[in-house]
Amino acid sequence: MTTSGLRPLVAGNWKMNGSRSMVQNLVGDLVSKSRANPFVVAEVLICPPATYLTAATEMTEGSDILVGAQDCHEATSGAHTGDISAGMLADCGARYVILGHSERRVDHGEPSEKVAAKAVAALKAELIPIICVGETLAERDAGKTLSVVEAQLEASLPADAIADRLVIAYEPVWAIGTGRTPSSADVEAVHAHLRRLLGAWFEDGHQVRLLYGGSVKPQNAAELLSLPEVNGALVGGASLKADDFWAIAAAAR
Ligand code: PEP
Repeated sequence: MTTSGLRPLVAGNWKMNGSRSMVQNLVGDLVSKSRANPFVVAEVLICPPATYLTAATEMTEGSDILVGAQDCHEATSGAHTGDISAGMLADCGARYVILGHSERRVDHGEPSEKVAAKAVAALKAELIPIICVGETLAERDAGKTLSVVEAQLEASLPADAIADRLVIAYEPVWAIGTGRTPSSADVEAVHAHLRRLLGAWFEDGHQVRLLYGGSVKPQNAAELLSLPEVNGALVGGASLKADDFWAIAAAAR
């Protein structure tokens, strides 16, 4: 448990990486590690591309490894060529869905209001949304980190949020895939701010799990995951290697 008493969540975002054989090998490895180490505290989640959800779900059946998705559409069905609904993801075994990742906010021009609509759809389909917020380097250099994440968070939240059906990931854009991370003090300051806001906005808001994401590696995981306001990690690159991802998951207390 984290110091807040919340069970940590370590989530792997495969992004647009993977293959059927990678699902077999990587997920197979994680399942073996999970069976051999039943005392790992963290909830361990993998989010492969949607095409591999069913295979990943089948591979993880009967294990403690959970499967999630990387995005969903806000509608339940209809004329949305190429899109995938939250219900379809749940039907393929997903339990969580990452929403508002900075790559989607930038590549697909997704505003926070759309992220909130997707979160509502996710909850309706009984998926737990992992909503990402984070500042760019320019915003950070301008001293706007807290105001940027606050505005993103406020506009991205679904109505009627409750703490155990919501996860927030703080992912500074400049730390994603760069090998750079904020100082522990900076991560704590942002997480404490997010927790204060959530606590003020809804009744059990202070109980929402707050993940840190951005260049989390086995080498820095223990320090980041031990921060009092950090309840887990969202991991990109390092989630593509079973040994690295497992080492990060095992570092969560
Ligand atoms: C991410 O994309 O969510 C992420 C945190 O990536 P990385 O760990 O590679 O920085």
